Amino acid sequence: MSSLYRKYRPNQFSELVGQDHIRGSIEGMLKSNQIGHAFLFSGPRGTGKTTLARLLARAVNCVGKKKGVEACGECEICLEIQNGQSVDVIEIDAASNRGIDEIRDLREKIAFAPARSKYRVYIIDEVHMLTKEAFNALLKTIEEPPAHAIFILATTELHKVPETIISRCLRYQFHRAAPDKIVAILKEIAVKEGIKLEDEAALLLAERAEGSYRDALSLLGNVSGEKDLNATNLRVLIGLPSAEVINQLLSAVANGQPKTVASLLKAFVEEGLDVGVLVRSMANSCRAQIFNSQGSDVSVTAPLLEELLLALAKARHSIDATSLLCASLISASLTRENKGTQVTASSEPPASTVTDLSEKEVQTAPSVDTVSATPVKVDDSGAFWPSFLAAVHEKNHALYAVVSSAHFEGVTDDKLIIAVKFRFYSERLFELKNRNLIEEIAKQIAGRKLVLECLVKADLDSGTNKEEDLLSTVVEVFEINE
Ligand SMILES: [Zn+2]
Repeated sequence: MSSLYRKYRPNQFSELVGQDHIRGSIEGMLKSNQIGHAFLFSGPRGTGKTTLARLLARAVNCVGKKKGVEACGECEICLEIQNGQSVDVIEIDAASNRGIDEIRDLREKIAFAPARSKYRVYIIDEVHMLTKEAFNALLKTIEEPPAHAIFILATTELHKVPETIISRCLRYQFHRAAPDKIVAILKEIAVKEGIKLEDEAALLLAERAEGSYRDALSLLGNVSGEKDLNATNLRVLIGLPSAEVINQLLSAVANGQPKTVASLLKAFVEEGLDVGVLVRSMANSCRAQIFNSQGSDVSVTAPLLEELLLALAKARHSIDATSLLCASLISASLTRENKGTQVTASSEPPASTVTDLSEKEVQTAPSVDTVSATPVKVDDSGAFWPSFLAAVHEKNHALYAVVSSAHFEGVTDDKLIIAVKFRFYSERLFELKNRNLIEEIAKQIAGRKLVLECLVKADLDSGTNKEEDLLSTVVEVFEINE
């Protein structure tokens, strides 16, 4: 793997990508020569925290500065720091086992003057990983640092850094770089590397890197064997879904076609591709549509984008992100499938049903009451339903997944009436083998023949099921677990 990142690591404050808000403040500090002693750099990975720490270490120690605040990059001190050979710039990886020893060592040596430079700079990466003891040791040190010491703490997880530490530091929040900033730098580097990089391909890399300059460069490094990069060959090289798949999925979700969504997802997962990348690509596509719409109708795209982003956020904390994302997409399509359809009876009403409404009337019926007579509950303790659920559970797990999310409306003399949230569930229940099983179980429990009737209520609160349960139900129904 070629390390383009090492080769093109920013060498000056002005080369930091997307961190202008930090650069201004650091430069101001250097100009006024009021150097802080403890800094805390927080933000996503690959956005330049360690790079800025090294640039800062150089800037405060450079002896060859001509004018301005940038280090000369040529004096002995600059070169030593650049090459990681300076005895006065000490990098500690808090994630390593040696964290506590290194902090102890730091405390013992801190009082001694730097060997060659004006300041001894301690860069502590992933500082949130320090143990409690190590944090306490560090705290004592940064409470009263000697004039020659500078601490630069870097973290991707600010919330795990104790408040006592945070409050003693100058804080800088790093941002993900905007795609156009990363695109510009990728194009520059591609030219230097003799790679023909199409605009659209550069944008794909930037989007895939999610605002991380480092990730963008290592992605480009990974595919730099190909000297002519366009959107099509790049997608294949970095495992991005094709524009066609993205468009098909978006339209299947927007048009409420859960079966199409499920089969597209299934094919995608079976290819061994990352659904997270797929959903992000879908979100990027929605965002581009919104930005390019110039105020025209975004009533379909905007809510969809919001749902995709929420799903991604949720997936970040999920133990099974793939299933959660698949479920979210199917759920999104199911919701749209039912839009405007408040109530329908089964798509295939059994001949013995008492209702005298034709199928057409049933489909457009405005309320539950017109579909059937008010159900007479045979059992006010509700003993029928739990026994029924238990029996279904024993016989067929996939069917149970649907039935358990249904609402028990009641039983009449000859009918079992339940309500489901999605038309798709109703169709599933009326598949012949499912319906036979349901009616057979119902007969055993009620002691007489009951015919299944199913209402679709889009606003149904799926009983005891929380949203998560609903999602896992959807996954089970479509059998798209990995
Ligand atoms: Zn220098």
